[in-house]
This record gives sequence, structure tokens and C-alpha cells, in this order.
Amino acid sequence: MQSTDYQFDVTTYLDTLYEIYKNIDNEYEKAATYYEFSCNGCETNCCDTVFYHYTLIEYFAVLEGFDNLSEETRTVALERAHSYVKTLNRYRGKESQVKIMCPLNFEGLCSIYKHRPLICRIHGLPGLLTHPKKGTQSFTGCKRFESINKKERKELIDRTPFYTQIATLEGQLRKSMDYLLKFNKTIAEMLIDRNLTGY
Ligand code: SF4
Repeated sequence: MQSTDYQFDVTTYLDTLYEIYKNIDNEYEKAATYYEFSCNGCETNCCDTVFYHYTLIEYFAVLEGFDNLSEETRTVALERAHSYVKTLNRYRGKESQVKIMCPLNFEGLCSIYKHRPLICRIHGLPGLLTHPKKGTQSFTGCKRFESINKKERKELIDRTPFYTQIATLEGQLRKSMDYLLKFNKTIAEMLIDRNLTGY
């Protein structure tokens, strides 16, 4: 993305990220096939769960997806983003108590599907993450998976290589950009900050 908003060309970093995403999707597919699990027919929508995202590289991917949307869709998404953050501000520190639909979800579908962040790709199925110092942490699947799955959990999506690869990429990008600040934003905050309109 050689965006006019940024002086830095992140194209090669994004290409690498999308390759990592492909591998994540393959792992997800393998596990979904084993569990015979699909999001089809789900009456809830995990896009209303508040997630924070921590990397600049995924921020640029979201923005690239956003830029591909029609002007009308972008306008609606931005309006929704403002309303999202107003609600979220009442629940800071207790985000699990609130459900707010992601501003990029239209009619139940992700409008930036190819660009959606890692957590949006792996949320539904059980997994694990091994940290060199903190040990191994396990994750359950989404509520629906937990309620309908009858199979033994033999397929756990190992998030470790993907987190490691994205962290490495993030490190390289930050170094090249000389970017030192922490990144911690919801999708709504990413969209608003891009436009610098405040909230
Ligand atoms: S980015 Fe897409 S998949 Fe992720 S929460 Fe938003 S609408 Fe859902």
C-alpha cells in the first residue's frame, strides 16, 4: 500500500502478512474439517465481541481493505465507528460485558474479509499459544463451537508460529518506520484515527 496518507511504502510488509494469513486460513480449515464445524447457521455473530489489535501491520491491512470499499460503505462504516467508540468508552476495562457490532460488518458479513485481522480468523476454534517464558496457554472455541462440538479436541490451532511471524514482521516494520508507540486499538478506533476526526 503506497498510501498518500503515509510516507512509508508498506506493500512488501503487507504481502508477507497476507502469506501468513493464508497459512492461518489453511490451519483453520484443517481444524474446521476435523470438527465438521462451520459458521453457517450461527445465530449470533462473533463480530460483536470487542477485540483489541496490537500491531501496526494489521492496522495497515485493515486500512487497505477499508480503502477498497465503496465511498458510501466507508461513510457508513465511519459513522458506525464513532457510535461504536462512544458505547465502548462506557465499558473500558469491562469489555466482556458489552456486545457492539464491528463497523465493518455489513448484513452479517465482513466487508474486508481478505484483510481481516488474525483474531477474526481463528476465534471460532480451540487453539494454543506457547510463550518462551509464560508457557502454554490454551483457548476455547467460540460459544457455539463449545455448545455443539462432540469430538475429541485433537486439532488445536497452534497460534505460536503465526504470532511469532507477525511479531517479527511488526518488529521489522516498526524499525523501518522508526515507530516507537504502543498500538492497541479496536477496528473502530483504527478507522477513526485514520481520519483524525476524533471521538
Ligand atoms: S474485521 Fe471483519 S471479521 Fe473482524 S470483527 Fe470486523 S467485520 Fe468481523
